[in-house]
Amino acid sequence: MSAAFVPPVREDLVGIASYGAPQLDVPARLNVNENPFPLPDDLTAAMGRAVAGTAKGLNRYPDRDAERLRADLAAYLRRETGVRVGVDQVWAANGSNEVMHHLFLAFGGPGRLAVTFDPTYSMYPEYARDTFTAYESFPRRADFSIDVSAAIRIIAERSPVLVLLTSPNNPTGTALPLDDIRAITIAALEAGAMVVVDEAYAEFRRAGTPSACELLAEFPNLVVTRTMSKAFALAGARVGYAVAADPAVVDVLKVVRLPYHLSAVTQAVAITALEHSDVLQAQVALLREERDRLSGWLVDQGFTVSASDANFILFGLFDDRDAVWRALLDDGVLIRQTGPREWLRVTVGTPEENDMFRRALAKATSTRAPAPS
Ligand SMILES: *Cc1c(COP(=O)(O)O)cnc(C)c1O
Repeated sequence: MSAAFVPPVREDLVGIASYGAPQLDVPARLNVNENPFPLPDDLTAAMGRAVAGTAKGLNRYPDRDAERLRADLAAYLRRETGVRVGVDQVWAANGSNEVMHHLFLAFGGPGRLAVTFDPTYSMYPEYARDTFTAYESFPRRADFSIDVSAAIRIIAERSPVLVLLTSPNNPTGTALPLDDIRAITIAALEAGAMVVVDEAYAEFRRAGTPSACELLAEFPNLVVTRTMSKAFALAGARVGYAVAADPAVVDVLKVVRLPYHLSAVTQAVAITALEHSDVLQAQVALLREERDRLSGWLVDQGFTVSASDANFILFGLFDDRDAVWRALLDDGVLIRQTGPREWLRVTVGTPEENDMFRRALAKATSTRAPAPS
């Protein structure tokens, strides 16, 4: 074996580190927006039975098109949003990350552009890189809203194929008004672009915040993506999905996916979780209350807090967020350094974890007053 061999890696991948937040075994893991509650016993028992039921048939490839799962997702969406969608409009894959990857494979590519608005989800540029799609992000306003007239101008001038709107947005927690999504989608339609609204955190939205699913009947270029990783407490199972206004979008996603991409085990687990969505929605309601309580507490402490429709809160402003992050970690509380430099993001945990976070943060910041908002 020659020690001098250098693998002929793609030039644009040389020296690039892989994505990843720290996975540390500490008492309060509040850094990757997971649902903190272990799955209820009756659900895990049902999942065990469902998986056992598929085990005998694992010699065969799974249902390539995941028909049953997609039908159940369509039914769930109808319950959650009131919007009726057909199975032929629904797509499922291993996490909404894979769904988004499929969308980039189908619509991106050399000479094609995806645009979005920062600060936002850090994975988007990676899908663009993997698929040789050009990627540009434009700044949000100071309150993390999108300047709609600027967005419309950008779409007309830059002619993207994909416009990514994250709502509720990660890491800011902010949701976009339906009128903003509508105006941007109209501009995209005129420019021949798809609009993808990433609703990974939709179930955590506050009362009165609508879902972009309500616009599906109006706009053929609209796709809404969602995930079972957050509200459904199923991050470990890897299930995400998309709803497209136009079934032709699903047809092209079938073209670019790898064969049998969604395992029979994954499909069985997801179908079982959807059967138990009521129990899981009760956890979501509790997390929403905890979120609002925690936001209120942070405001009372004098921090600047970004209005959250998600299961996490972006707060600041810190001269040295790294020092605060480390002090919390020393007390067993892992949060996330993400977004603009002066901010930190905390995932809403169990009531006990949130208490730990409050104690640790009060201690970490007791020697210095937070910067004025
Ligand atoms: C967590 C998250 C996802 C979901 O990823 P999965 O692959 O479904 O686990 C998608 N988009 C955003 C913005 C997220 O924060």
